[in-house]
Amino acid sequence: MENTPTPIVTRFAPSPTGLLHVGAVRTALFAYFFARKHKGTFLLRIEDTDKKREFPGAVQQIIDSLTFLGIDYDFGPDKPSPVFGSLIQSERLPIYHKYALELAEKGLAYVDNYTDEEIESFRLKADEEKRPFLFRDHRPEVLNHTWSVGKSLRFKVHEVKKTIWTDAVRGELEAGEEALDDFILMKEDGYPTYNFCHIIDDIEMKVTHVMRGQEFISSVPKFLSLYAALEIIPPVFVTLPPVLGETGGKKLSKRDGAKSALDYRDAGYLSAALFNFLAFLGWNPGGEREIYTQKELTEIFNLNQIQKSGARFNPEKLDWYNKEYVRMLPTEVVETKLLSYFRKENYPETVYGRIIRMIPIARERAVTFTSYHNDFIMGEYDYLINAPNYDSVSLVWKKGTLEKTKIILDSLLTIAKSSLDDAEVLEKTKELAVKDGNGDVLWPLRVALSGKEKSPDPYTLLHVLGKTETALRLTNAINSLTNADNVVN
Ligand code: GLU
Repeated sequence: MENTPTPIVTRFAPSPTGLLHVGAVRTALFAYFFARKHKGTFLLRIEDTDKKREFPGAVQQIIDSLTFLGIDYDFGPDKPSPVFGSLIQSERLPIYHKYALELAEKGLAYVDNYTDEEIESFRLKADEEKRPFLFRDHRPEVLNHTWSVGKSLRFKVHEVKKTIWTDAVRGELEAGEEALDDFILMKEDGYPTYNFCHIIDDIEMKVTHVMRGQEFISSVPKFLSLYAALEIIPPVFVTLPPVLGETGGKKLSKRDGAKSALDYRDAGYLSAALFNFLAFLGWNPGGEREIYTQKELTEIFNLNQIQKSGARFNPEKLDWYNKEYVRMLPTEVVETKLLSYFRKENYPETVYGRIIRMIPIARERAVTFTSYHNDFIMGEYDYLINAPNYDSVSLVWKKGTLEKTKIILDSLLTIAKSSLDDAEVLEKTKELAVKDGNGDVLWPLRVALSGKEKSPDPYTLLHVLGKTETALRLTNAINSLTNADNVVN
């Protein structure tokens, strides 16, 4: 199926009825991979024929999401095709009308004259009799094939039989006769149904592979009956596995906190990390390797390795990807990005110097740039801005004494004041720790510099804060111990 000689055309066809969540973007990604791998065409089609459910701003959000991830489309709502025109369904109504009228003329579709109440009563009766409701059981004896807006137009299913078809992922599938019915092609308001217009568009746009979620499988027999009536060979159906919530039980939904791709962008996730993560949601090239560039993924993607079963959306895995990608970024890029968050704060230049010197340590810890910034504003790194406040008792190491702590702090202050530069402070401090013991030296130093019992290691703090600030904070520590002399034994 992958070596078909026809130029490959795939499409992502979202309905702009809400915010596009990452599960849906995964569908776009797979369709994109397949088209790009085969040097084919990838389309972004907006399926907006349900005007009542339209969500303002959704189309732009779809475009922005794909753009953020680098999923570029050849034709889309903002890029009409010179061959088949607009990719916004509401702008293609004359095309659907033309097909609808042709089907009606050929006797393959008919006007539905029933009222909503009548149809509802048929449905209720079927429910009472515990049989599936099928409109074709109520098909009028004499059919009206002259359709115009204001009435619904129904497809007249011509051969009611068991349907067997092949799905590129699920293999051979089948459905009984009850899957076929006289479904609505055109609604009273002159808009087509999804069931009708997506098929017309797939035909007009020469789509070769239809990739979408499993919720469409039960409708495939209907789609196939329409393809047969139109005497068109259907495209290859590629059913993608559902993206499941974190617990793996059910489909990821907005209720589980499914976010849009743009939420991840705004939370500081890198597009390459999200891209790599999404590629593995329901597809796997085999082997241990997990980090692939966008180009590599496009080259190795194939339909055979798409899984049938649901793919769990694991936010921790996404965090892992993001950390890996942040780690791979050149230092200058990380600095520029991070500083763009901090610049809004208007700190003195000395503080920016400390923030920059802390980056190599912080980037190992932070999941995203935003989380580094958040750590900062939540107080994790507030000692970089101001000298810390702490209880002087905490300067004394658990195995140390007040006397010893004072002596150590005095020695540290002397080192800080007498050394020529930061490197010398560092070297002499290390010597002191060897002589007097790591615990006795490094514990009070850490607390004096950061006010915390847990922080990056004290040598890093020395390097980040520099000689002058270190001397100042050691002086503060000595003063606070002198004032609290009688508190500790
Ligand atoms: N508009 C449909 C949806 O958003 C697209 C289904 C399809 O790809 O055919 O679910």
